[in-house]
Amino acid sequence: MSRKISLSCIAAAVVAIAAPSLRAQSNNSSLTPDWCRQLPRPQYKQLERVPSADPWFEVYRVAPGVFAIYEPHQFEEVISFLILGEKRAALFDSGLGIGDIKRVVASLTSLPIVVLNSHTHNDHVGDNWEFSEIYGMDTGFTRANAMGSSADAQAELTPISICGRLPAGFDAKSYSTRPFHVNRWLHDGDTLDLGGRVLQVISTPGHTPDAICLLDRKNGLLFTGDTFYAGPIWLYRPETDLDAYVHSVERIAAMAPQLRLLLPSHNVPVDDPSQLPKLLAAIKKVRAGRVHPISVREGKVHYRVDGFVFLMTAPK
Ligand SMILES: [Zn+2]
Repeated sequence: MSRKISLSCIAAAVVAIAAPSLRAQSNNSSLTPDWCRQLPRPQYKQLERVPSADPWFEVYRVAPGVFAIYEPHQFEEVISFLILGEKRAALFDSGLGIGDIKRVVASLTSLPIVVLNSHTHNDHVGDNWEFSEIYGMDTGFTRANAMGSSADAQAELTPISICGRLPAGFDAKSYSTRPFHVNRWLHDGDTLDLGGRVLQVISTPGHTPDAICLLDRKNGLLFTGDTFYAGPIWLYRPETDLDAYVHSVERIAAMAPQLRLLLPSHNVPVDDPSQLPKLLAAIKKVRAGRVHPISVREGKVHYRVDGFVFLMTAPK
């Protein structure tokens, strides 16, 4: 689950039905949610867009053999990644399960697919059920989420969460996160050889107990999941562990000199590795009590520091 960043760029917007919502800030004078009117994010102009087999998604080639599969019509703006090797491909997250990501993946590669998840919040595992090969972190949190649920999925569909139209034939009433079967349990340091490309699992608990980053060392790529992305980083859920988060950011910040590109799971699919040491400094300032909280909603606060925003529970 994730984030919104405020951008001043107002571009052509797709009209959405809207009603006040607890999930996103709205401009009540308009029928289009603010977040939606601010799309497309300017960073996308620099990216190479490729055709998408399902109009719910936009697809971008963000590195050789790496596609970002972006869902701009829902406020999470979640991004899944298809990472190609010579013998098989990894799908790092399967999105909200509103569009058909399997169709998109099949149009991009005929390689066998292994699904891994950055973590098992509903917006990252929505289409897991469509795939037969799924690797999951060996945690109780993962096991619980693999059983599926409907509450978190239903909460994604408030009118103000949608930008444009839901796909034709999509049944909002029955929308839920469907159960999926994990074939192999993963641990920190495990590797996945795709043929000509090796991905290493970096356990980065904090946002959730099962959060991971994926490291493609040879190509200097780090897929950061929800541990880092542009926009308010959500660190308020009951499963969030702030001390673990700081430790995880320390770990990936130490990798920054060896990295060429970060690939985050929300909002914008590429970022600069130099962000990681800055992120570490920022979250340490928050934890040291050096940043004033700004109340946002429902007992939550923003900590804004050095260009980063953390959405956390209000201090007591
Ligand atoms: Zn999440």
